[in-house]
Amino acid sequence: MTEAPPPGENTRAVHLPPPPVPAQSALGGAVWRSTTYSFDTSQEYADVLGDRAPGYSYSRVDNPTADAFAQAVAAMEGVRAGGGVAGQAFASGMAAISAVLLAFTHAGAHVVAPTAAYGGTYGLLAELLSRFGVHTDFVDTTDLGRVRAAIRPETRLVWAETLANPTMAVADIPALAEAAHEADALLVVDSTFATPVVCRPLEHGADLVVHSATKYIGGHSDATGGVVVGRGGLIGPVRTVRIHTGGMLAPDEAFLLRRGLETLPLRVRRQCDTAAQLAAAVARHPAVARVDYPGLPGHPGHETARRLYDSGPEGTRFGAVVTITPYGGRAAGMALADGLRLGLVAPSLGGTHTLAGHVASTTHRQMDEHALAAAGIDPGAVRFSVGLEDADDLIFDVTNALTAIGHAGMPDGAFNP
Ligand SMILES: *Cc1c(COP(=O)(O)O)cnc(C)c1O
Repeated sequence: MTEAPPPGENTRAVHLPPPPVPAQSALGGAVWRSTTYSFDTSQEYADVLGDRAPGYSYSRVDNPTADAFAQAVAAMEGVRAGGGVAGQAFASGMAAISAVLLAFTHAGAHVVAPTAAYGGTYGLLAELLSRFGVHTDFVDTTDLGRVRAAIRPETRLVWAETLANPTMAVADIPALAEAAHEADALLVVDSTFATPVVCRPLEHGADLVVHSATKYIGGHSDATGGVVVGRGGLIGPVRTVRIHTGGMLAPDEAFLLRRGLETLPLRVRRQCDTAAQLAAAVARHPAVARVDYPGLPGHPGHETARRLYDSGPEGTRFGAVVTITPYGGRAAGMALADGLRLGLVAPSLGGTHTLAGHVASTTHRQMDEHALAAAGIDPGAVRFSVGLEDADDLIFDVTNALTAIGHAGMPDGAFNP
C-alpha cells in the first residue's frame, strides 16, 4: 500500500482525536450521545449485532447511558431478590409497559388486569391489544377470589399496581404471585407509585417490575422515561420488543433519571412522611368526607402495606399520594384543587412540587358516575402528589382550601371550623 497523503481539513475535522477515557471513576454520570459505534473488525460488528459479544452498535438497540440507568434501577429493585436481576430502559413508562405486554402475549392470549389500572395501561389493553386478539379481564385485583376466578388456561400475565391510582389500593403481591404462578402466568407489577424505597415487588414474588421513571425516579418533573426490571431470562424478550418498536430511552434523559436515583430515598422518605402528616390532619377536617391513604388504619390496604412495605425510624412508608374527597361532589372537588396556593393543579406525580388533580374531570374523565362508583371513586375526589415543601405549609394550604369550600353538601351541622 502506498502511504496516504496528509488528510485535508474536512477529513481532519471529521476524524477528530478520540476523547479521553478517564482511568478514574467519575462520580457524575456520563452522557454517551453517540448513535453509532465503530468496530475493529466486521466480525466484531457481526458478533455484537448478533448478541454473541457484549458491546454497543446503535443507540436504539442499546446505549451505555440508558444501560447505566437501567442497571442502577435493577440494583435497587433486586438488592434482596436473589441475584440475576437485570433492567432495560425505555423512552417512557408506556413504552416500558407496551414492551412487556407485547413480549409476553400473542393472539389468543389472556391477561388479568386491575379495574383501577393506570389509564394508559387500560387503554393499551382494552383498545389496542384487543384488536390483535389479546383479551383482558379487568377485575378488582385486591380481591384474590376474583383474580383466581378470572385466570384461565390462556392467561399469560397477571398485571398489578403496587399502589393504585387514585384510591391507593394496595396489591397483595405474594398472593397475586402465587395465583399467577399456579396458572403458569407471570406477575408483572407497575410500581411507579411505590418506588424501590417503599416496596420491591421482586422480593415478594413478582416476575417483572415496571416504572414510569418520569415520576419519583426522575423526581424533578424534567425527564420522561421508563424501566423494566426482572430476571435475565425475562428481560431479553422485553429488550427484543424495544429493538423492534423503537421505544429506547434517550441518553440525556437517562442521565437525568440516573441522577434522580441518588436522592430517591431522601426524597421519597420525606414525601411519605409529609403525606402521612397531611392525611392525618385532613382526615379530622369537617369538610372532608373521605381520605384514601394506606397509612390511615381504616384504609383497606393498611395491613397489607404494613406487611410488605419498608419502614425506617419514621415508621412504615405508605407512599406519598393522598386522595382527599370533600363533601359536595364534583364542584367541591374542583373548588378544593382550585383553592390551593402552594399546591399546583397539574398532571403527573412524584416531583418536588405538590400537585393536585380533580380525579373525575381529569385522569378518570372517561368514566361516568356508574363507572366511578364501581371503581370506588367519589366524584369529588382530589389526588395529591405530595412534594418536598414543609409539611406545615402544605397542611395549612390544604386546610385553608377545605375551609373555603366549607358548607357545600355537607351533612347538617357538620361544618364548624
Ligand atoms: C405515569 C404512569 C405511567 C406512564 O408513564 P409515562 O412515563 O407517562 O409513559 C404508567 N403507570 C403509572 C402508574 C403512572 O403513574
